[in-house]
Formats: sequence, structure tokens, C-alpha cells
Amino acid sequence: MTTPSDAAPLSSAAFSTLKKSARMPVIFLGHGSPMNAIEDNAWRRSWQSLGQSFGAGGSYPAPQLILCVSAHWLTRGWHLTAMAKPRTIHDFGGFPQALFDQQYPAPGAPAAAGEIARSVSAPTIGLDDHEWGLDHGAWAVLKPMFPVAAIPVVQLSMDYSRPPAEHFALGQQLAKLRDYGVLIVGSGNIVHNLRAMQWGAGPDKAYDWAKEFDDKVASQITSGNLGELQKFQSMGQTATLAHPTYEHYLPLLYTAGAVGAGDKPRLFNADFQGASIAMRSVIWS
Ligand code: ZN
Repeated sequence: MTTPSDAAPLSSAAFSTLKKSARMPVIFLGHGSPMNAIEDNAWRRSWQSLGQSFGAGGSYPAPQLILCVSAHWLTRGWHLTAMAKPRTIHDFGGFPQALFDQQYPAPGAPAAAGEIARSVSAPTIGLDDHEWGLDHGAWAVLKPMFPVAAIPVVQLSMDYSRPPAEHFALGQQLAKLRDYGVLIVGSGNIVHNLRAMQWGAGPDKAYDWAKEFDDKVASQITSGNLGELQKFQSMGQTATLAHPTYEHYLPLLYTAGAVGAGDKPRLFNADFQGASIAMRSVIWS
């Protein structure tokens, strides 16, 4: 990985690789089990129809670039993928071969990644031109959304050692990309406790603490109190149960940070997978 610090910083929101556009929405998707990438279910169908709402005849412009923040890429410091052809990473075990056979050959965008990294004043964002690629947090939702894989995708890692406020603040710095055709997609889960998961529980079934945490987050989103989302740990035991580790929550902070004053949220997939994974998702536009 390299750091772009030797290059001159860009003046704010000046991108030679990206064209000015109508403002793009910003999306947080609950991804749940990797099997949702290939199983026909209501969640996957929602991702398919969401993808169809972009481009000619849809509600939103076609993205020039997708910037995905996945729960599954944690690094020391922050990094942005900058390879021409990001590989499809199968970062899971114990699933059927059909899932390992999945590929998502979306191109990368090395030049745009460099410009985006330089447009962020702090933290320094490194460029990864060979290590990562697209992990299942990214491709499991992007493949149903955009099955043709023609839109370039870059993935942004998260430094889990840093406090929630820094993740939210980085999301705020990414907001300007929305005016340059960049679709920011956060992929995680608003409640994520794998150990408590009850395989086979219906989508209406959830633990009380899962519902409580999910309801609180939903009300903060609906009321527009997005800054409050950084303080999730103040929910104490409920937060610890909802997120024994909270890497699946952090992508929500990037997307919330990128929301502007004029944006309105639309919440969907307000149900649960295995009683302990909230699938709730949001699009702000
Ligand atoms: Zn996950």
C-alpha cells in the first residue's frame, strides 16, 4: 500500500476523473448472511429493484463510480482499493460451492481512487493496488443491484481502532463525492450478533434487545438526529448484545456522515435474519 501524501492536495471537490452530476443518493444496506447473495429472498429482491432505480428511466442517475464501505475490511489506518481489476474475495467458510463460484468482475478506478484519497484532509487514506479487492460485504449486495458489473467499484477500509466519531467525520468528507456521480454504499448490519443467531427463525422474529437497538437507530434516522448514531455505545448492555464487536455498525456512520441537510431517508427491509441480525436498510436522497 502507498500513501498519496507526496501529491499536492486537491482543492475541495475538484476531480478530473469524475464528472459533476446531479447529487447521488447515499445507501446503507444490511447484508446479513453471505447466502443472501445467491438465494432468492425478499432482501435480495429489494437490492435488485434498488439497482434498477438507477440510470435511464429510474429515480436516480447512473453512478459513475461506487464507493463501498464494507464491514469486512478492517485495517490499521484507512485504505482505498486502487487496482484496475479488483478480485472477488470469498471471505467466509462453510458455505456451498455455489457461493465460492461467485465472481463480481467490476473494474476498479485507480485514478479516481487517488483523487478521492487526496481530497480527504484527514485521516490520510492509503491506496491499495494489490492486496484487497471486493469482499463479500461489497459484492453480495452490488451483484444483485448491478449484475452487469460495468460500474467501477472502489472499496474503503475502516480503522476499527479509531473511535466512532472519526468514522462519521470521514463520511462527512466523502459527501462531496455525491455531486460527482459517486454512489456511496455502506454495507453492514444495524444489529449483528452471530453467536445469538437462530438459523431458521423467520424474519419477524427478533430478540428484545435486537428490536430495542434497531428501533432506536431507526428513530434517530427518521428524526434526522444522525450525529446521535455515533453514541450507540451509550445504550450499554443493549449495544453490547446488538454488537459484541461493532464493525457491522460502522458502515452506517459513513453513510450517515455523507447525508446532507436536504436529504430524506427511506427505510426498508425492517426485519431480521436469524433473530439477531437486523436487515434494516436506508436510502437518503
Ligand atoms: Zn457481514
